[in-house]
Amino acid sequence: MSDNVIESPETHTIPTHEGGTFPVRRVYCIGRNFAAHAVEMGHDPDREPPFFFQKNPDNLDASGEFPYPSHSSDVHHEVELLVGLKSGGTNITLDEALDHVWGYGVSLDMTRRDLQGQAKKMGRPWEIGKAFERSGPVGPLLPVSEVGHPDQGRIALNVNNELRQEGDLNQMIWKVPEMISYLSEYFELRAGDVIMAGTPSGVNAVQRGDVMEATIEGVGSLTVKVT
Ligand code: MN
Repeated sequence: MSDNVIESPETHTIPTHEGGTFPVRRVYCIGRNFAAHAVEMGHDPDREPPFFFQKNPDNLDASGEFPYPSHSSDVHHEVELLVGLKSGGTNITLDEALDHVWGYGVSLDMTRRDLQGQAKKMGRPWEIGKAFERSGPVGPLLPVSEVGHPDQGRIALNVNNELRQEGDLNQMIWKVPEMISYLSEYFELRAGDVIMAGTPSGVNAVQRGDVMEATIEGVGSLTVKVT
């Protein structure tokens, strides 16, 4: 019997390619990890220390639908590689970082750009722009045994069959082992933590009725309808 005074919230899970589920503990998202995207957002593409924000575990959503959120009229798509950890720790070295990865998937970091912009201007946190309900559409995670550790390959997003975003994983400023190592210096990483690895240039607004098709070469594709 639990001593909890209310009903325990369920552990949020996302699907894997083979049918099991992956329980999500934390969601770390890197900002400006492709130079061309940093430039389009008005920043210097030089390699500064990485920075991260978080979404909530239950913001990840594998339903294939993205309900247009409240209080925004400028909601942007950001296609990103999703990295799922099977273990963690602190002060993880670059050499051992990839040993903690369970698998990879395709994800979208949906963003209320207008609210994020206001927050940036006022020096406020980003949650209102980034960590809202169903703001992280995801496809199934694929185990390393199937996909290896993808560090190159086309990453792209079409909206209504028109190309919007395109890049290559080899253009990521901070590579997956570097992100894991860096995060583990500041946080204790654990099994179930996921990282959204940053978006290439071409971020833009979606409208209700749009169909987003995200693809990452060697990992898979994800189709999401804006409702
Ligand atoms: Mn992003």
